[in-house]
Amino acid sequence: MQYKRILLKLSGEALMGEKQYGIDPKRLKEYAEEIQTVIESGVEVAVVIGGGNIFRGLAGASNGMDRVQGDHMGMLATVINGLALQSALEDEGIETRLQSAIKINEVAEPFIRRRAIRHLEKGRVVIFGGGTGNPYFTTDSAAVLRAIEINADVILKGTRVDGIYTSDPEKNKDATKFDNITFKDVLNKGLKVMDTTAFTLSQENELPIIVFDMNKPGNLLKVVSGENIGTKVNL
Ligand code: UDP
Repeated sequence: MQYKRILLKLSGEALMGEKQYGIDPKRLKEYAEEIQTVIESGVEVAVVIGGGNIFRGLAGASNGMDRVQGDHMGMLATVINGLALQSALEDEGIETRLQSAIKINEVAEPFIRRRAIRHLEKGRVVIFGGGTGNPYFTTDSAAVLRAIEINADVILKGTRVDGIYTSDPEKNKDATKFDNITFKDVLNKGLKVMDTTAFTLSQENELPIIVFDMNKPGNLLKVVSGENIGTKVNL
């Protein structure tokens, strides 16, 4: 395996599968099975999960809701998704721990870095819920932050497209995919990989990002074993 410890970022929307809202159990099971193959190969896996399938603070704010209030709802949504993923992983026989950035002790452990690392060393999947615990941030920022804190080798952004393209491949047929690209080129070309805060944090800490198609069975293991099937963003 090319990577020993990974941080997998999954968006909340990805959990919707074919649905318009919420969680698709079929999709959840598929993701759990993907993670299982990687755990079985001895790789340590941490997951940061989004909440966009349930609530986004910005959407609330655009309807007149206080932004901070909305962001709190968004953070709770990520905990709900974390619980769902935890349950799906446990159904596959995988040991897991959910750690939350906001205290919700009856439901999840609080985020404690050393404890998270210990869980990983014991082969448990650690799911980080609650984002960064602060409003005005995204779960992409949480993913980069946690990846740096636990010394992950790479951040794997599982999406429904298979990498970074010259332009949006769902809108432009002529778009071509990059196999590798530098942080600088992503910025210079105005490409969108993560929000700027998250992306800059990754760049400053020299943490590579791989964008890949999470919805194709077997892809997660391929990426972890070093196959270049997505796009790798590096220094
Ligand atoms: N959120 C937040 N702080 C964080 C992470 C998330 O306030 O550190 C809130 C924010 O409202 C966001 C929502 O949680 O819209 C869901 O997260 P995100 O939009 O990143 O989820 P994804 O797009 O990955 O599904």
